[in-house]
Amino acid sequence: FESKLPNLGTSIFSQMTALANQFEAINLSQGFPEFDAPELLKKQLNHYVLEGVNQYSPSSGVPRLQQQIAQLAKRKYAAEIDAAQQVTVTSGATEALFVAIQALVREGDEVIVFDPAYDSYQPAIELAGGKSVHIALQAPSYAIDWQTVTAAINSKTRAIIINTPHNPSGKTLKQHDINALKALVIKHDLYLISDEVYEHITFDQQPHLSVLRDNELFARSFVISSFGKTFHSTGWKMGYCIAPAALAVEFRKIHQYVTFSSFTPAQHALADMLEQQGEHVDELSEFYQQKRDVLSNALKDSRFTILPSEGTYFLLLDYSDVSDLNDVEFCQWLVEQAGVAAIPLSVFYQRPSNDKVIRLCFAKNDATLLQAAEILCQL
Ligand code: PMP
Ligand code: GLN
Repeated sequence: FESKLPNLGTSIFSQMTALANQFEAINLSQGFPEFDAPELLKKQLNHYVLEGVNQYSPSSGVPRLQQQIAQLAKRKYAAEIDAAQQVTVTSGATEALFVAIQALVREGDEVIVFDPAYDSYQPAIELAGGKSVHIALQAPSYAIDWQTVTAAINSKTRAIIINTPHNPSGKTLKQHDINALKALVIKHDLYLISDEVYEHITFDQQPHLSVLRDNELFARSFVISSFGKTFHSTGWKMGYCIAPAALAVEFRKIHQYVTFSSFTPAQHALADMLEQQGEHVDELSEFYQQKRDVLSNALKDSRFTILPSEGTYFLLLDYSDVSDLNDVEFCQWLVEQAGVAAIPLSVFYQRPSNDKVIRLCFAKNDATLLQAAEILCQL
């Protein structure tokens, strides 16, 4: 059998969680909350299932959820979104990313991605017949060097994928980044896929600079988010894509043949949640900032160097002073011998990376974070 993705194995997230379970380690690897989804969300899901709201929704989503998403974009980013034409509900951000990439990328097209990059972008680009062009962020700040981006653009370049706040580094794009990006996208007639799944998790009073804030940039963009991150419900696999009507039409052509529609009862429950408990979204940054600080403070006296986290629920640690192992070996050792599961950063790079950096997920109860930190402080 000739594989279409010969170099791809099982995702690092599945691997590390399996190892964490096998060795009964504290699992700070795969990004998912240890705490439960809000009561109202669970109650309403139950309600709609029992009420018999169990058939297909319209392919682009339940209208009242589309409207709530548009209202959220207006409240947060002053964006004027046409719910019916521009919002498409998907089965997780992963589906939205896959569909946006299939809609955009043609045979031979190049797509610029920034390493360390979330692992679903490259396979989706390759399946569309395109090529991912990888530009490394400038470790340890993980800033984008826009001169390198400019130099990488050629007649085959079709799109750029950004992710802010960024998994795994926790870096957020600043206004000068958005300005540089916009200038390039417009000058070279490119499209933008903006992965904003951690949009509601930014720290130290920094606003999230959504592409939805900028009409000119949005005119060439697919903006993608996930309810899994926002409502502690990663297992529901609910997300969405907001795009200008002409791009949404192309997105929907593919979405209807990938999933057709997403889980109807969950769409209604999410609409209720946004309608009745909008404050959950507003409290998320403070909630996770406290967790970031619990973990960082508990690691202060360790031999790890803590890198800044401006958003997401991830924290990077440089372990140069702890071990000479490479990061994959170190994570293997850490889960087997020390009982803590983490993600090695090199797996998010196309080119080999010698950085001695691991990613910890702090979407965990304080007791779990303190227990993990206690182990790490002894290394
Ligand atoms: N993009 C990024 C950067 C992510 O971290 C994740 C979730 N781990 C996704 C997309 C996928 O989101 P979902 O679970 O809603 O498919
Ligand atoms: N996005 C999650 C992470 O970065 C994992 C998603 C997955 O397991 N596919 O850890």
